Amino acid sequence: MTEPEAPVSSGDGDAETPTGKGESDGQGEGEDADKDEFPLAPPPSPASVARAGGEDFFRILPSPLGGLGAFAARELKRDQTILVERPLLRTTHFRLMPDYHDLSEAAKRVYLSLHGGQDGDRFSRVERIKQLNSFAVPGGIAIFEIASRFNHACPSVRNVQYVFDDQREVLSLTVCQDVVPAGTELSITYGGSTVDLYSTYGFRCSCGGCTPLTDADIRKMEDLEYGNFGFW
Ligand SMILES: [Zn+2]
Repeated sequence: MTEPEAPVSSGDGDAETPTGKGESDGQGEGEDADKDEFPLAPPPSPASVARAGGEDFFRILPSPLGGLGAFAARELKRDQTILVERPLLRTTHFRLMPDYHDLSEAAKRVYLSLHGGQDGDRFSRVERIKQLNSFAVPGGIAIFEIASRFNHACPSVRNVQYVFDDQREVLSLTVCQDVVPAGTELSITYGGSTVDLYSTYGFRCSCGGCTPLTDADIRKMEDLEYGNFGFW
């Protein structure tokens, strides 16, 4: 869909696999007192990505899936928190445009650099980025500069979980496999079935932890979507 770009640390980038998300899938908040010690990700700025709270847990690099992804910068262990990030934009489906307009110019630039921001007029880009990158949070949705770069894998094979702490208004990403070797692509589960993933984000999951959609499945979905029931 989009061509891979330079690592995010060097500037704007683009995530191939869309990263809209369902509800937080972590174990809830508050069980982890030392999270308060964890430095937050830097404030939105096109040049300040790829580090998690100052510690180099992962890098944003071109992914074999296409576009960008997050890759372990060193061996990671279960329960390590690798990112604590405030939303770039917290909004609802109905307040998207006014809330977008209230962002700083720097934050708007970051927003528009996310996956889906390459084509169309400003309105359709803002809307499409919301569709592809938003996480469900209490009362609405939130879009994150860094977490949005993580690609999807289904629950049995993902290696990172996330949870949104509404009080602190931060999203935390935590390793959920015993050992993740350096260089491994890090993945979170966006939520929904493989059909949902295709219809919402436009990709056919091939994570190895699900039954991939067949060409026939895709045709059936498209026929339903376009109201083509074989009469033509
Ligand atoms: Zn899958």
